[in-house]
Amino acid sequence: MDIRFLGVHNCESKETKCISLLIDDTLAIDAGGLTSSLTFEAQHKLKALLLTHHHYDHIKDIPALAMNLFLSGGTITIYSTAPVFEAVSSYLLDGKLYPKFMETPPAKPTVSFTIIEPHQVVLIDGYKVLAIPVEHATPTVGYQITSPEGKSLFYTGDTGPGLDECWQYLSPQLLITEVTAPNKYEDFARESGHLTPSLLGQELAKFREIKGYLPQTVLVHMNPRVEKEIAAELSAVAASLGSEITLAYEGMQISL
Ligand SMILES: [Zn+2]
Ligand SMILES: [Zn+2]
Repeated sequence: MDIRFLGVHNCESKETKCISLLIDDTLAIDAGGLTSSLTFEAQHKLKALLLTHHHYDHIKDIPALAMNLFLSGGTITIYSTAPVFEAVSSYLLDGKLYPKFMETPPAKPTVSFTIIEPHQVVLIDGYKVLAIPVEHATPTVGYQITSPEGKSLFYTGDTGPGLDECWQYLSPQLLITEVTAPNKYEDFARESGHLTPSLLGQELAKFREIKGYLPQTVLVHMNPRVEKEIAAELSAVAASLGSEITLAYEGMQISL
């Protein structure tokens, strides 16, 4: 399984992109940095887009992707939970700002949605996909993706602390989770459902307690303005856990 980190930040600029991950060139997760990272051909190859939640930094490229696919006769299936479908279909694909891609073209609409239920495995293009709720300001799920060869990752999406229950359902080889702000913003992180290095350390310690191991851990969703501070604090967390923790960057690739 080949994982490409297309966008790994919570704010977009010339140097940073919002969240998008790509698995084996066919399965995308979140659409914060999708169209600006992929050629038209690569966009056409996408089979599915999984959404963790409906915050703008995770969905903003959906209309642009839909237009590109529409113009090349392509289609995409978006997978999400019901609340995310409600928000995206009501505010982003409702036809007010851009064409109604869920009905256009009528014979073969560009965008179709499949609603998934948390805790139920669905098969998407040969991958087993399991959605597990996490702790965030809006309904959010993380995804465990298991390849046909049995390799697996779990991406939490945006989450705050309190993942004990979530960990019980998972056994990934690779954990992709978030760290948005440095330790001094812990109150903000708790209120808005995000992690700091210190909060992440506590969640990882609980993971190890429950599962008996720690997977390779890669972090996304950093606020670019305080990324150096986050990196320094993460080194201390990694040292105290005796574990490897990596900050992702745009263009990073991991093969499992
Ligand atoms: Zn969010
Ligand atoms: Zn976000």
